[in-house]
Amino acid sequence: MCVGGAANTGSPVLTFFLAARGMLNGMHGRRVMAAMVLLHAAEMAALLTAVTVTGGLARSHPGRGMGLAMLLLLVATVLVGWQGYRLLAGRRSLNVAGLAVQSGIVMVAIAFATQNLAVGGFGIVLACSVLAGWGRLAKTSSASTAPVVVLAALSVRSGIVFGLVALAVIFIPLERLFALHPRRVLRLGWRTDVVHYLVNGAALKVGLVVSVVVLGSVLRAFVPASLRLGVAASPTWVQIVAGFAITTVGGYAGHRAAHEVPLLWRFHRVHHSIRDMDWLAANHLHPLDETFGRSAAVLPLYALGFGRVSLGAFVILITVQAIFIHANVRMNFGPVRWLIATPQFHHWHHAREPRAYNTNYAGEFPILDALFGTLYLPADRWPAQYGIDESEPAGYLRQLAWPLHTRCAADSNAARTQSVEHGVAAPLVA
Ligand SMILES: [Zn+2]
Ligand SMILES: [Zn+2]
Repeated sequence: MCVGGAANTGSPVLTFFLAARGMLNGMHGRRVMAAMVLLHAAEMAALLTAVTVTGGLARSHPGRGMGLAMLLLLVATVLVGWQGYRLLAGRRSLNVAGLAVQSGIVMVAIAFATQNLAVGGFGIVLACSVLAGWGRLAKTSSASTAPVVVLAALSVRSGIVFGLVALAVIFIPLERLFALHPRRVLRLGWRTDVVHYLVNGAALKVGLVVSVVVLGSVLRAFVPASLRLGVAASPTWVQIVAGFAITTVGGYAGHRAAHEVPLLWRFHRVHHSIRDMDWLAANHLHPLDETFGRSAAVLPLYALGFGRVSLGAFVILITVQAIFIHANVRMNFGPVRWLIATPQFHHWHHAREPRAYNTNYAGEFPILDALFGTLYLPADRWPAQYGIDESEPAGYLRQLAWPLHTRCAADSNAARTQSVEHGVAAPLVA
């Protein structure tokens, strides 16, 4: 692996997006078409899987709107197929810019659909029309599109179609087999959490690019070039071990700050408003809070000159681990639970129980909480309830606006902190 050369390219997001731009600029004519056909084929396969899954859910949960979801997915499958056919027939179809605009409309429409079905439905119809090749968007032909647009297209399309389906296929059976709190798959608020997953995923990528470009470059200026060169020249395994240690400490510090700084807690309380913990709830975050937390973990690596492989590996690991620790699974993991963050460890972080408030900040390794006096991990107990005293508004858009116009109730988290009197948890605010 070429660590030295990679060090200059920075964050995994930037690396990914430069690579994507390079790939698209390098592809012309038939190769672009072949890639697009492949994308459509993969999407059709994923959409058909989603149709099958929602069809099954519609039968087992009648009256929960899954029949309509299945129908919409079926329409989307037909439209993707139609677009693929047009490509094969040699007719112009949507290029990357068109896909990005179409994806943007889908995302905004989905966000609106949780508040106003009519507006959301109109947006989805509009997006499907664009996807079907209708309108001027389908006629643009340049492959060298603005990088941000390329990034948005790739992340949104892959996030919507592949990510959600893959996670659902893994976690729905897992939570049925090992259910901690048995409940229906389509529990209260599931639609809003799907929107959180879809929209926040794309917003996080944009937010990370901005934070790396703005803050990362400033931080970098304070790190001596000799240190960065030294990091870049060190063996891969050293970079991975050291990088992981730095990421987890950065993540711990960022998460703890989100609880202790009132302004940050205003945003972080959206995540702590979760009442039903499961894999889907892992995505229930304010995008600004998510960008802040992820930047705290990744920016130090960027500033210190770590290579792209270590950076990319951490982003993937952190993401998968973050979903797993929210899962609604009763798995104790024996002594391993002291080494690696497990669902039990993070469920206590969300517990509506004073002795567990402001504990278990680590994303990956509980030892950090043990070191800083914030660990709370009873042997066999699980929380009975989750959430905070305040109740957040329903619907994605209202949750997005909530921190902007509503102060925390008398800085509720400071109040929570002061109410910690017993247990292992140490008071964190004087
Ligand atoms: Zn938290
Ligand atoms: Zn959480």
